[in-house]
Amino acid sequence: MSSNPNVIIVGAGPSGSAAAFHLLENGVRDVLVLDKASFPRNKLCGGGLTRKAQKELDRMGVYDEVAAVAYPVPKPYIVMPSGNALYARPREEKLTQMLVLNRRILDEIVMRRARQRGAEVREGVEVTELVREGGRCVGVRTRSGETRPSLSSGGNAKPSSVASATPRPTSAGVNAGGGSWPPIRPETRPPIDAWPA
Ligand SMILES: Cc1cc2nc3c(=O)[nH]c(=O)nc-3n(C[C@H](O)[C@H](O)[C@H](O)COP(=O)(O)OP(=O)(O)OC[C@H]3O[C@@H](n4cnc5c(N)ncnc54)[C@H](O)[C@@H]3O)c2cc1C
Repeated sequence: MSSNPNVIIVGAGPSGSAAAFHLLENGVRDVLVLDKASFPRNKLCGGGLTRKAQKELDRMGVYDEVAAVAYPVPKPYIVMPSGNALYARPREEKLTQMLVLNRRILDEIVMRRARQRGAEVREGVEVTELVREGGRCVGVRTRSGETRPSLSSGGNAKPSSVASATPRPTSAGVNAGGGSWPPIRPETRPPIDAWPA
C-alpha cells in the first residue's frame, strides 16, 4: 500500500474510480483506491447508461470502448411504478439515448481507466473501520493496518459507510442514473410508433 497517499477512496466502482481519475486530472498525486472485491465483480444493476452517464464516460476517455460492447437503446421508454412514463427524444448527436451494459464489464473498464491515469487501485482490500480523531475521520483501517491520507473520499456506494460516518458526504463521480427527462402522464404518452426515427 502506498505509505503516504494524499487521498484514499473506498470503493473502486464507477463513483470511486471516476473520483480518482478526476483528482489525478486536476493535479492531485498519490490517490489510493481500495476495494474489497476483485474485478471483474458482479453488481446488481439494470446497467442503463443515460446520456449524462455517457458524457461522463466520454470525459474519462472510455466512451468508445464502452459503446463498442454495450447494447444501444435508441428509444428508451421507462414506465415507473406510479404509472408515469419517461421517454427520451432522439437527438442528432454522437451519444445514444441509452446504452445498456452489464456492470461486470462497465465497472472494470472505468476502474482500469483510473488505474491507467495513475491511481493505485488495490483489489481484495476491505476497509474494516474508519480511523477517527477529534470527531474527524483521519484514515482507514484494513486487515493489514492503518493508513492516513491528507484527505479521504467515500465511493463505496449507498449506504456508504464512509459517507455516513463523516460529517459531510463525500461520495462523488458518475451520476449513473436519474437524468432530466420530464415525466409524462400515461394518457398523454405518445405511441411509440409516433416517435421520430
Ligand atoms: C436493482 C438495481 C438496478 C439499477 N439500475 C440502474 C440502471 O439501470 N442505471 C443506473 O444508472 N443505475 C442503476 N442502479 C444504481 C446503480 O447501480 C448505482 O447508482 C451505482 O452502482 C453506484 O455506483 P458506485 O460506484 O457508487 O457503487 P458500486 O458500483 O456499488 O461500487 C461500490 C464499491 O465499493 C466496494 N466496497 C464497499 N464496501 C467496501 C469496503 N468496506 N471496503 C472496500 N471496498 C468496499 C464494493 O466492492 C464496490 O466495488 C441500479 C441499482 C439497483 C440496486
